[in-house]
Amino acid sequence: MVDHLACTRCGQTASAAELTNTCGCGAPLMAHYDLPALAAHAPHPGADRERTDVWRYHEVMPIGVDETPLTLGEGWTPLVRSQRIGPALGLERLYFKDEGLNPTGTFKARGMAVAVHRARALGARGVILPSAGNAGSAAAAYCAAAGLTCTVAMPESTPRPIIDECHAFGADLHLVAGSIANAGQWVRERIAENGSFDISTLREPYRIEGKKTMGYELAEAFDWQLPDAIVYPTGGGTGLIAMWKAFDEMQALGWIGADRPRMIAVQAIGCAPIVAAFRAGADAAIPVADPETVASGLRVPSALGDFLILATLRSSGGAAVAVSDPQLLDGAHQLASEEGILAGPEAGATVGALNKLLDAGAIARHERVVCFVTGHGLKYPAVMSAA
Ligand SMILES: *Cc1c(COP(=O)(O)O)cnc(C)c1O
Repeated sequence: MVDHLACTRCGQTASAAELTNTCGCGAPLMAHYDLPALAAHAPHPGADRERTDVWRYHEVMPIGVDETPLTLGEGWTPLVRSQRIGPALGLERLYFKDEGLNPTGTFKARGMAVAVHRARALGARGVILPSAGNAGSAAAAYCAAAGLTCTVAMPESTPRPIIDECHAFGADLHLVAGSIANAGQWVRERIAENGSFDISTLREPYRIEGKKTMGYELAEAFDWQLPDAIVYPTGGGTGLIAMWKAFDEMQALGWIGADRPRMIAVQAIGCAPIVAAFRAGADAAIPVADPETVASGLRVPSALGDFLILATLRSSGGAAVAVSDPQLLDGAHQLASEEGILAGPEAGATVGALNKLLDAGAIARHERVVCFVTGHGLKYPAVMSAA
């Protein structure tokens, strides 16, 4: 169970016993556990082998012993060794973590299982959020399961299957012109009258807790040895930030040593604020005015956690690269036709970036590299029609 919350910028602490958004300073709060106490008595390694959902690592999750976890079976996704893409590049140990097999077809399910569980446990009747698409449909699904209302604002250009999903789950869906930034504006203007709890990216502490299980699972799958590099399609950056948190926790628990993977962010050229900031040596990113890419999950013009993403990339010795839409669609096509994995365009971006990363020396051929397949291709007409 969580011990307390602490601000990622100023360090101010807050109680985990009530519904809380950001720190007073505006930065995200994160959950902290009494890791030394857990290390003293947690089974090593501390996975609950009975569970194959995000609550498998319940010792380091925000749940009390008497609470029934909210779950749709998210997490514990396959780690598939590349059959052809890797070998063709001379990458003998390339893996795909297939998050497309989660409920609602993306890793967003992990974060929403935990955020909605926690919101309900702390008394919320409903949640509200802006989304580029997949966070909205995942929130809608978990709210349907939990009996909470769900208000979502997302771009009208969001792929149709994702919009239909939200309706099917009974969400109160609002389509806005522009990007997730405009959807965020819509939410901020209505949050007071709506009365729901705001679960926008990094504006509450528990979506991160769900997503960090990707890091725990990777460690467990590789017998508590982390890979050399993780290639991640980056929008709001929570996946990267969350896995980095998981690694620190696991080291404090004594489950892993001090070695860390190099964390590599891939973005679309039409919306690459993190890549630009990484190259410029900046600590924060400049918002993109007209974000444009078919990889809707990467159409995030500014991220609240930009400083955390950049710090993670740098302290891991990682990299940040951008690929074009034709490159990322080609990557998705390769995943389908050469690996049998029908992936969304975001995941296609990681495959589209491999050549660049090899050329730049950001990954090496002998290394163990994991590409995150963050979403399922069936949700994207652009992928399905490009085949
Ligand atoms: C949200 C999303 C991303 C971006 O993930 P972050 O962790 O927010 O950077 C990537 N791919 C898909 C399919 C997504 O839905």
